[in-house]
Amino acid sequence: MAWDFATEPEFQEHLDWMRALVRDEVWPIETVFDDLGYDGFKRAIAPLQERVKERGLWAAHLPPDLGGQGYGQVKLGLMHEILGTSPLAPAVFGNAAPDSGNSEILALAGSGDQKDRYLHPLLAGDLRSAFSMTEPDTAGSDPTLLQTRAVKDGDHWVINGHKWFSTNGSIADFLIVMAVTDADARPHQRASMFIVDADTPGVRIIRDVATMEHPGESFGHYGNHAEIRYENVRVPADALLGGEGEGFLIAQHRLGPGRIHHAMRWLGVSRRAFDALCERAVSRHAFGSVLADKQSIQNFVADSAAEMHAARLMTLHAAWKMDNEGASAARTEISMIKFYGARVLHDVIDRAIQVHGALGYSTDLPLEAMYRYARAARLYDGADEVHRQSVARRVLRGYEPTDVPSEHVPTRREAARERFADLLEAVTSND
Ligand SMILES: Cc1cc2nc3c(=O)[nH]c(=O)nc-3n(C[C@H](O)[C@H](O)[C@H](O)COP(=O)(O)OP(=O)(O)OC[C@H]3O[C@@H](n4cnc5c(N)ncnc54)[C@H](O)[C@@H]3O)c2cc1C
Repeated sequence: MAWDFATEPEFQEHLDWMRALVRDEVWPIETVFDDLGYDGFKRAIAPLQERVKERGLWAAHLPPDLGGQGYGQVKLGLMHEILGTSPLAPAVFGNAAPDSGNSEILALAGSGDQKDRYLHPLLAGDLRSAFSMTEPDTAGSDPTLLQTRAVKDGDHWVINGHKWFSTNGSIADFLIVMAVTDADARPHQRASMFIVDADTPGVRIIRDVATMEHPGESFGHYGNHAEIRYENVRVPADALLGGEGEGFLIAQHRLGPGRIHHAMRWLGVSRRAFDALCERAVSRHAFGSVLADKQSIQNFVADSAAEMHAARLMTLHAAWKMDNEGASAARTEISMIKFYGARVLHDVIDRAIQVHGALGYSTDLPLEAMYRYARAARLYDGADEVHRQSVARRVLRGYEPTDVPSEHVPTRREAARERFADLLEAVTSND
């Protein structure tokens, strides 16, 4: 079957427009982001968001009835490659994580009332959300181990549990919480999702966890990751999102496209680091020539270009497969781009830092921040090892155990001698 990632000329015009807007209007905000604070940032991007809306590109991941474009994954992937060049760009286009993924969940599984109360205000930027699944005391890689419980009490649910790394949890108006509702059900039917208003009694935001990306202690900042205790949190029956026991099913719908968007954003970051690498290589002199003339630096350039190209084609292919055959058919391809893309991102930035020497390590360039961002990519959306395992398992399903390797030359030679006995006889007797 032919693979076709081509896009129509009108969409290419959108891509060109986005590239110019992000580079000319969003990149300059990066260097004053901390001084602006979140409110200042919102004011800075408000006119840009209007331009995006006028162009019809706001929240493009959503279906048209919710104001999106209903673009397939190939188009969304190409958009995200551009938006990925700046950590601030997704907010300008109405698809910043985790709100974008949460809006997809609400669009997919939300009731009419939930869409009115949460989805529409979320899309309008009037509410902020968090996704609260990972726990400090159980392996996030194996969500069948979740300990957070939701127990029915009359026409309410009572939630108890301990979560962390709920991105934006400390500034969210509501949280989508994953909790076990039937511990005896089959492993992937045990958990359900709930919409919990952040001001519900018993929701205790303990702290924002300082990380490699944001090492300083801070609280209530955009992009922070909250540690939260849910202590006897009572929510009404209609806080249940989707059906009872459908938590994993809904999460899977959210994660498939999300991984493609991440992988394309990583390519946007890689490209920016790569451009910096090449610019420095042709500018810096050492030992009688520019760095670009040294073979090891040329290897950096060639390896990075080849790896980014491979990651891009793999990601677009995964997106194409998802568009044409559905998320389930593309599971192997999606897992491959998760760990391969995260590795390419890391390695390209690492080489860019190396070529810049001490300058690359300094905060005078964005490379060190990119590097810290890249390290997290190997963990979130499923640790790389888990995706490798899942790819290997599916690949290995196509193989049977044998006593003698199929390629064993003496065995094959014996079989071939039997098969070609007459011919061998004729050839030998001619001698
Ligand atoms: C920046 C960032 C943002 C995040 N945002 C959110 C969020 O908004 N909401 C949320 O709920 N969570 C979030 N997370 C959490 C993330 O989903 C988890 O970190 C991830 O699922 C891994 O779970 P864990 O940290 O518990 O690691 P563990 O499950 O304890 O795994 C640790 C390590 O064990 C190894 N391992 C695990 N399983 C296997 C295996 N099968 N084979 C081989 N090795 C294995 C891997 O090396 C893995 O890295 C975020 C994490 C980060 C870093």
